[in-house]
Amino acid sequence: MDAAQFLKEFHDHAALLLDTYEQSIYLYIVRHSRLEGREEVTIGFKSARKVIAMGQGKSRYISDKVCYTKLQSLQDKQFISVLGTEWEGTRVRASLPSEIPGLLSIEPDPTTLPLEELDFFNVVQNRPLLRERENNRCFYCLAGLNDKNWVVEHVVSRPEGDSTYRNVVAACCRCNNRKGASVADDFLRALYRDGYLNADDLQGRLSHLERLRLGELKPRIAR
Ligand SMILES: [Zn+2]
Repeated sequence: MDAAQFLKEFHDHAALLLDTYEQSIYLYIVRHSRLEGREEVTIGFKSARKVIAMGQGKSRYISDKVCYTKLQSLQDKQFISVLGTEWEGTRVRASLPSEIPGLLSIEPDPTTLPLEELDFFNVVQNRPLLRERENNRCFYCLAGLNDKNWVVEHVVSRPEGDSTYRNVVAACCRCNNRKGASVADDFLRALYRDGYLNADDLQGRLSHLERLRLGELKPRIAR
């Protein structure tokens, strides 16, 4: 097998459908079968589970019960076939992502999620949509934004504030630094007092902020 290709397909497609235990177990099976040129392998999961996924959850390693539950779910998802039980363990065959029908056509495309669930901070490719929404101007002071001077800013700071389009905006670095954890309305008034905004701009920004909170400022997403 082509290990480099496998790793790409695993991360880009397979991992989207598997939880972390399933990923660990699947990779372990692939490591001990396909990676060594064998189609099948017999694994004693009672002991193997102790090296498959260390340090997860409360226990030191994956429990017996969870291990066998995940083997079943991996089989249900067509990643492995359990071929039988032998005295030394469970005989399994792992399918590579390219061998699982339809798997490679699943793209990690965040735009297939509902807009309300899109993350505009952690999902880096979504960030430019915010800058576009603000017409390349800082959400607070209206300064022009370019590739070097802008950041994604949380109107309500984390962890209270989330990273949806209702709470993150494109802002200049200066506003991002100055605002800190202060309330956005107060920060806009401070910009007015300090001469960065005139009275009209302040009113405009305050109503823009209100529209943001109401969910009226939806980024344009190509679907
Ligand atoms: Zn600014």
